Amino acid sequence: MFKQSAQHVHSYYAQTYPQPLPLRPFLQGSHQVDVLIIGGGFSGLHTALRLAQTGQRVVLLEASRLAWAASGRNGGQALLGWSCDMGPLECGLGLARARQLWDSMVWSSEELRELPARHGFDVDYRLGSLWAAVRESRVAQLREAQQEARSKWGDEQVRFIDRDELGQWIDSPRYRAALYDPRGAHLNPLKLAQGLAGAIEQAGGQLFEQSQVLGYRRDGSGFVARTAQGEVSCQVLVLACNAYLDGLDRRIASRVLPVGSYQVATEPLNPALAQSLLPRNSCVIDNQFVPDYFRLTPDHRLLFGGGCTYLGGIPKDVAQATRPYLERAFPQLKGVALDYAWGGHIDISMKRTPDVGRDGQCYWLQGFSGHGVLPTLAAARAVSDAIGGDSQLLDLYQALDNPRFPGGRWLAAPLEAAGKAWYRLRDVI
Ligand SMILES: Cc1cc2nc3c(=O)[nH]c(=O)nc-3n(C[C@H](O)[C@H](O)[C@H](O)COP(=O)(O)OP(=O)(O)OC[C@H]3O[C@@H](n4cnc5c(N)ncnc54)[C@H](O)[C@@H]3O)c2cc1C
Repeated sequence: MFKQSAQHVHSYYAQTYPQPLPLRPFLQGSHQVDVLIIGGGFSGLHTALRLAQTGQRVVLLEASRLAWAASGRNGGQALLGWSCDMGPLECGLGLARARQLWDSMVWSSEELRELPARHGFDVDYRLGSLWAAVRESRVAQLREAQQEARSKWGDEQVRFIDRDELGQWIDSPRYRAALYDPRGAHLNPLKLAQGLAGAIEQAGGQLFEQSQVLGYRRDGSGFVARTAQGEVSCQVLVLACNAYLDGLDRRIASRVLPVGSYQVATEPLNPALAQSLLPRNSCVIDNQFVPDYFRLTPDHRLLFGGGCTYLGGIPKDVAQATRPYLERAFPQLKGVALDYAWGGHIDISMKRTPDVGRDGQCYWLQGFSGHGVLPTLAAARAVSDAIGGDSQLLDLYQALDNPRFPGGRWLAAPLEAAGKAWYRLRDVI
């Protein structure tokens, strides 16, 4: 549905990357491996690293550049939890099994904190995240979430911050209260993807860029996938294509819908002004149905995301579309120059639950629904463990019901957009 281009979009991350981004070769000729991974975002890269480290022969094929899509363009907020929150997971799995998933999320946050140092790269990692309420009526949601975190998930770490204290965290008239999670974090996602790529190569995995898989077929007990100039035979196939899977596997793709999401980066601000906006340098996301999310970068910019398009398109002028949201949160930035503005696609599932599973030796990871920095790592662990013979975590994901969108992708998008208009309305009344 959406075409990959050969180069990164004009994002803050790609444009300010400290050195020229290395270009891996494209696939040529025939290759034979244990595991082929299609898609070079976080899902594919984390899976590849975990498998290469256990001695599997791994090839990863990326249609464009590594982390060209959501993984190289996101807000960089590594927040604990899934897009759907824990309710649907508890509903689908029961309390005890949902708790196992939650524990794997806590593991992911610890793993992501340690990964860069373990492999010798830097991602501008900063600890601390806030989940903020805009509406008085949704302050109660924060209190309930904190209470539930304690009683159901054994989580004592999140702290409620009331309006009086909130000024020490966010200099904005918009927010009433927040939950602070000291394990949440923010980072530069393109640096993370490049660091993972280097670690995969060090572990013996092979990465190919500008190598779009045009199709795959079953071949004996394995698979053969082909690109324009090469093919790979493998025993195990991993589909990590996010919102771009439809050309390859329509059945699996029918459970997610591409939604456009976008953000901006301001010009570098006076350091004192930048610090005054978010004095503790936490990242922030609000609890509106369509949330605003923002954070500071090490070069004192505000990186701000807000708004989304359910029909999958990206506004022609992302800066103009996003500015009102930014100035609503921070009126003191009225008229600030926006140096970079870009968009990407998130892969929403019907219930916003992750869609991770297997059919024989074909595995897939998708449905992160706009919240994937940590969930992709948790899912990659489940998939790589299962490939290694331990399917305990993958079984949890597979027990979740992820229905197809009714009406196929073309009808589903307008229906979903209409339904969501109601929730957006509830954000403002
Ligand atoms: C604007 C934006 C902001 C976001 N902000 C946050 C945030 O702050 N925090 C958070 O947790 N999440 C955020 N997300 C979501 C998060 O980025 C994603 O959930 C996550 O990156 C998904 O990773 P992925 O590897 O599954 O998919 P992707 O990163 O989309 O990677 C899929 C890759 O597969 C490749 N591919 C597809 N088809 C083929 C093929 N046939 N052959 C070869 N390669 C193929 C694509 O080119 C692409 O590179 C945001 C997303 C967007 C778009």
